[in-house]
Amino acid sequence: MKETNVICPYCGTGCGIKLTSHDNKIVKVTGIKENPVNEGHLCLKGLYGWDYVESKDRLTKPLIRKKDGVFSKEGTFEESSWDEALSLVVSKMKEAKEAYGPDSIVGNFSARCTLEENYLAQKFMRAIIGTNNVDHCARVCHAPTVAGLAKTIGNGTATNSFTEFEEHTNCIMMIGSNPENAHPIAAMYIQRALNRGAKLIVIDPIKTEFAQKADVHIQLPAEYNIPIINALINHIIAKNLYDKEFVENYTHGFEYLKEAVKEYTPQKVSEMTGVDASLLIKAAELYATTSPAAITHGMGVTHFNHGVGNVCDISNIMLITGNIGKVGAGDLPLRGQQNVQGACDMGVLPNIFPNLKLVSSAEDKAFFEKLWDCKQPLSTEIGIHKTEVPDAIMDGRVKVFYTIGENPVMSEPNTNHFLKGISKLDFYVVQDIFMTETALKADVVLPAVSVGEKQGCYLNAERRVQLNDKTLDPKGEAKQDWQIICELAKRFGATDFNYETPEEIWNEVREADPRRFGGITYKRLRELPGIAWPCPDENHPGTPSLYMDKKFFTKDKKANLVPVIFIDNKDNTAQAEEDLRKELNIPENYPCMVGSVDEKIDEKYPISLLTTRKVYQYTVGTMTRRSKALEQGGDSHGPSAEIHPDLAKRYNLKNHDFIKVESRYGYIAVLVEVTEVVPDNTMQMAFHYWEGLCNELTSGGWDYITKTPTYKAAVRMEKITQE
Ligand code: SF4
Repeated sequence: MKETNVICPYCGTGCGIKLTSHDNKIVKVTGIKENPVNEGHLCLKGLYGWDYVESKDRLTKPLIRKKDGVFSKEGTFEESSWDEALSLVVSKMKEAKEAYGPDSIVGNFSARCTLEENYLAQKFMRAIIGTNNVDHCARVCHAPTVAGLAKTIGNGTATNSFTEFEEHTNCIMMIGSNPENAHPIAAMYIQRALNRGAKLIVIDPIKTEFAQKADVHIQLPAEYNIPIINALINHIIAKNLYDKEFVENYTHGFEYLKEAVKEYTPQKVSEMTGVDASLLIKAAELYATTSPAAITHGMGVTHFNHGVGNVCDISNIMLITGNIGKVGAGDLPLRGQQNVQGACDMGVLPNIFPNLKLVSSAEDKAFFEKLWDCKQPLSTEIGIHKTEVPDAIMDGRVKVFYTIGENPVMSEPNTNHFLKGISKLDFYVVQDIFMTETALKADVVLPAVSVGEKQGCYLNAERRVQLNDKTLDPKGEAKQDWQIICELAKRFGATDFNYETPEEIWNEVREADPRRFGGITYKRLRELPGIAWPCPDENHPGTPSLYMDKKFFTKDKKANLVPVIFIDNKDNTAQAEEDLRKELNIPENYPCMVGSVDEKIDEKYPISLLTTRKVYQYTVGTMTRRSKALEQGGDSHGPSAEIHPDLAKRYNLKNHDFIKVESRYGYIAVLVEVTEVVPDNTMQMAFHYWEGLCNELTSGGWDYITKTPTYKAAVRMEKITQE
């Protein structure tokens, strides 16, 4: 028997797990009691979702598409040696670089990989290939959180820790998130706060489990977050419930904000949204007068054409009430994947290096050219965002695509558009543990390993770095992602990719970002259950709660209150922003935001489609759908369209009837699930299922700053009858 500590391979809560193995197989899974993230508790996925490791579908050898024994895009997959597969990948990358330049190659990396692997992947693309074309799944989830919080408080991460809810938080405002399904152990701390008497405000079109027990549930129409938050801010200012001392000493822009929200009285917003004005007033007063108050937000805030605007407005309400820089207050964005915060911090983004250094800054570029001993200057061009890749392939800018640990055929919006894009690639490399829907479209597939089969660090949604130890040997000839990247780099002639262990890579990360990670060593991580950054030296205990000194990460340490307004027609966004600047006299270098509904319902497509997650499944199901316990679990009857009983009645539908759902982008057939949790004229679908993939319906609309998809659409439905 062998026992090792690992980090749960699923959500961003980052629960600590003890894996017991025998004969290279997992025989027992237990939560680690001493780990403050989960205190020994695990949710369904963390406890039962491990049999995917032994799935017969695991990739064990490199695969190359061949015809008559040689590589051919028209060929079928044949097993190959590592040497043959890696040499082919490198030769295709070199060909593209020579013929079309380094920006013809794009890397799409992974929040499933360790910090060390993410650091190395972006270093490979920047220092060896010579491009900033690196991105990962934050682009399709919390990129607007990063950008929105950066605009207001100078840093796009969680301000506090989940565990603070239990003892300290007296009011929780949950906006567009469903932690009982997506982050169950974080939800446990929220529930413990409620058990102690904390108040709960839920802002969500869906009657989630928490909404059903909230003190106030604001069931807004989808995409109307800005008018709702503005109404709360309007009332807080009108009733003098804001923290004047905090606003005066620690923020800029109060007058802009006050003017921007003056039209958004609870009464007017009630007329616009149908939400009872008394609920808006009650929520505003509860949040402003019950201290400390914390906010949690999810993708019901970021998946909009104005995701950054939504986050700025959340930051506004937090700042004017002084609910930041206190234990139990702040904003906790619920990050979806176990290392999505980490991949951002490692610079797997098209505009930043590690340590939040800008690719466009000569000084920052020089720092990394020296650290990486670069043989060629680093690029200063901002790279292609992940969501732009299909268009960039179709217009000839991108020729080679390298995907690690993501399944974009399932996870990108408007599936048909994505498939059309990748069909035009010269060469596609996918590195994964399974033959995913995406790997099936590749030219070369490289077999990687799962969490239990690798060593390295993960960073949870609270900024806590935790060490994951290797428990099992890899399956067949599969390799750790960092080893594969080093092999590729060496075939390009790189001399500084000779790392022997993940710890060596980690020590380079500490050099690249000493302010946040300098004091976090493998030795300390073996002794402590994680350390929250910033941790600048080895005597520093880490920082679970940020801004306790009321100094923000902006240039002058003050936070920005950002005026955000809502308009009727998205085509007028740029003009509305210009008009707002003029009207309020806002300088060009100060942020202001405009939001609107991205795709309105109409006679042809009269139903709003929203996307969600179920508790037994995880993202696009690559792992959970290969776990028997989870796949056969209680609510897991496959894809369905959840609709309100009144909508079902109008279409003469009953539970489990089959329907065709169609949008402007595609159509699918699914079961109907009639439920009162969804409002009328709305349909909710989870995106875990290839056999009823809601992304075949979702639009190509995106946040106008970060290009994060809206994952929504206007749809129509019809009953499928047997004849
Ligand atoms: Fe894993 Fe998230 Fe569940 Fe914790 S809450 S056990 S990290 S899936």
